[in-house]
Amino acid sequence: MIEKVVIANRGEIALRIQRACRALGIRTVALYSTADREAKYVKLADESVCIGPPRATDSYLNIPAVISAAEVTDAQAIHPGYGFLSENADFAERVEQSGFIFIGPRAETIRLMGDKISAIKAMKKASVPCVPGSDGPVTGNDKEVHRMAAQIGYPVLIKAAAGGGGKGMRVVHTEAALHNAVALTKSEAKAAFGNDTVYMEKYLDNPRHIEFQVLADTHGHAIHLGERDCSMQRRHQKVVEECPAPGLPEKLRHKIGERCAEACRKISYRGAGTFEFLYQNGEFYFIEMNTRVQVEHPVTEMVTGVDIVREQLRIAAGEKLQYRQKDIQWRGHAVECRINAEDPRTFVPSPGRIDAWHPPGGPGIRVDSHVYDNYFVPPYYDSMIAKLIAYGDTREMALARMRIALSEMIVGGIKTNISLHQDIMNDAAFIKGGVNIHYLQKKLGL
Ligand code: ADP
Repeated sequence: MIEKVVIANRGEIALRIQRACRALGIRTVALYSTADREAKYVKLADESVCIGPPRATDSYLNIPAVISAAEVTDAQAIHPGYGFLSENADFAERVEQSGFIFIGPRAETIRLMGDKISAIKAMKKASVPCVPGSDGPVTGNDKEVHRMAAQIGYPVLIKAAAGGGGKGMRVVHTEAALHNAVALTKSEAKAAFGNDTVYMEKYLDNPRHIEFQVLADTHGHAIHLGERDCSMQRRHQKVVEECPAPGLPEKLRHKIGERCAEACRKISYRGAGTFEFLYQNGEFYFIEMNTRVQVEHPVTEMVTGVDIVREQLRIAAGEKLQYRQKDIQWRGHAVECRINAEDPRTFVPSPGRIDAWHPPGGPGIRVDSHVYDNYFVPPYYDSMIAKLIAYGDTREMALARMRIALSEMIVGGIKTNISLHQDIMNDAAFIKGGVNIHYLQKKLGL
C-alpha cells in the first residue's frame, strides 16, 4: 500500500483527498502557496511544503516544485485533484519518470483524451455514440469544407481540438459564414492553446449535459457508477449537479454506462474518469472525457455509497476494484450546489475575510469545504468556497433538504451565490426536472 501521498492541489479538494488518505491510514503532505499558508487543511496534514508565491503558475502549476516536494518528503504518490496539473500529460509523465505514482491514468491516456479529435476516434472505435461530425481535422479548400458542413447539416459547431474551459468554439448557421468562422476559430485556438487544429460537429440546439462516472483498475476491470446531470450551467461552468439524471430511463443508463466501462477496458484506462455527453431527444452524444476526479463527484458517492477518492487511491496502489458492476446500486437522489464567493447577479468574484461561517447540517446534508470562521478567501484562485450536497430518498426530498440547508447557511463578510441557488431550487422548470444547458443563462437574462 502507499504510505505517503503528496496532495498537489488546494481548497476543498485538498481537504477531500486528505480525508480519504487518513481513512486508509495514508500519511499526507499538503502543498501550499504563500496565499494558503494559514489554511486549516495545511495544518491538519502530517507534513506541509510551501511551493511558491500566490500566482498559480509559480506554485500549484510549478512542476519542478511539486516533484521536489515529493522527493524531500519521501512520498510514494502524487494526487493532482482537479484543475491545475490534473490533466497535464507532461506532468503525469514526469511524476512517473521521477519514480512516483501518479494518481490518475497513464500519461498516454491523458494525451489521447486531451486531444478531442483523437478522443472521439477512440470512442467511436469503442462504440460510444458521438456527435455527427468531421471525423478528423477540418482541412482542404472551401468547397470541401462546405461539402462537409452540408453533409453534417447546419447549424454546425467549429471546435478546437485542444480546447478546454468552454473556449475555442463557434456556431455556424450558414455556408456564407463558414470560411470566416473556421479561420477565426483557428487563430483563437492557436493563441489560447498553441494548436490551431479545429474540427466540425453538428450543433445540438437543446441538449442536456449528462456525464458518466467510471472506475478502472490495473487488472482489466472497469465499472460505471451511473450518470450525473450537470445541465444547469453558466458560460459552460456547472452551477448545480445531480444524480441520477431526472427522467433518464434505467435501461439507457445501463446501456451507455456499460459502453463507457467497455471503452475503459479497450484503452486500458486507469483510475476514476468521466465521459461527458450531450443528451437530446433520447440520444447520447459523447463530447469529451475528463481523466480526473470531478468537482461534482459527491452526488454519485451519496447515491451509490462508493467513496470515489478512496477508490482512486486503492487503484493507484495496484489493488483490484472491490466492486463488480452488479454490486453497484443507485438509491435515492443527490443534488450539489457550488457555493462561490461572488456577486449573485454580476458574478464578479468577492474574495476577502469570512467573518461568520455557519454551515448547515441535518439528515442527508454534506458540506465539502475548507472554510472556517475568519478564513480569508484569496483572490488568486477559483471562487468556489464550498459544495453543499443534499441527499434524499426521492428527488423531491433532496430538493426540500437543499432549500432548508441554503436557508440555514450563513457566510458573512463576503458575497456569495447562495441566493442564486435559492432561486434555482424554487424554479418551476428545475423542480420539474430535465432542463437543457441553455436554461440558466436564459433565466438570468443573459
Ligand atoms: P470544454 O472542454 O471547453 O469544456 P466541451 O466539448 O466539453 O468543451 O463542450 C463544452 C460545452 O459546450 C458543452 O457542455 C456544451 O454546453 C457545449 N457544446 C459542446 N459541443 C456541442 C455541440 N456539438 N452542440 C451543442 N453544444 C455543444
